[in-house]
Amino acid sequence: MEIPVRAASRAVAGQDGQVPTVLVVEDERDIRDLLRRYLERADYAVLSSGTGAEALAYLGSDAPDLVLLDLGLPDIDGFEVLAFAAAIGIPVIALTARSAVEDRIRGLERGADDYVTKPFSPQEVVLRVGAVLGRHATERPGQETQSFGDGRLRIDTRRHEAWVGSRAIGLTPSEWGVLTALASAPGRVFSRSELVNRVRGYEFSGYERTIDSHVKNLRHKLGADGATVVETVLGMGYRMGLDRDT
Ligand code: CA
Repeated sequence: MEIPVRAASRAVAGQDGQVPTVLVVEDERDIRDLLRRYLERADYAVLSSGTGAEALAYLGSDAPDLVLLDLGLPDIDGFEVLAFAAAIGIPVIALTARSAVEDRIRGLERGADDYVTKPFSPQEVVLRVGAVLGRHATERPGQETQSFGDGRLRIDTRRHEAWVGSRAIGLTPSEWGVLTALASAPGRVFSRSELVNRVRGYEFSGYERTIDSHVKNLRHKLGADGATVVETVLGMGYRMGLDRDT
């Protein structure tokens, strides 16, 4: 698998001058310690947890910038931790067994930003952490709220919020990625593979069908406007069917 070329190999301090904090959730102590060592060497602040319950507590109290999450945890289902992190907008890189293809697909569908299969190279994990954090940072350019279709849809890229009319909608990172990609060029058709790249930041074939599932969930959250905001272009992909308001 290709490593994203624009990935940062060292932590870059955010707007508040703080180095990013990574929460490592992994019950195997050797792997946990290995990841901590490599991340700290790359100047990240690291929290670590061997159980899902402790991970949920960290997510609620310490607001890490990213979670490295082993999906096979001893106490609770790793997907529960994934769902919680996605719901509060914290990016997740899932750690899965090489054989667990279904876990990887399910993880991406449930809002994981990326995944790494075991056994992994710790250097690669550090690169992926930098790439995911970089994508999230560029999604906050400090622009004002963008409005579409005479205010039917509004998107605040800085606050990571979207509204349909006056109703705020909560989106997973992947749904947010699809919506903001389409909104970047209303009317232009995006193929599924383009959307995969926008959501995941780099080429990886084979997961295009997860885009359909993100689109389905996104439309559901958009309600009556769903099929208009995200139009299907048969045989080609998707496009935003609303114009940008000026
Ligand atoms: Ca495990």
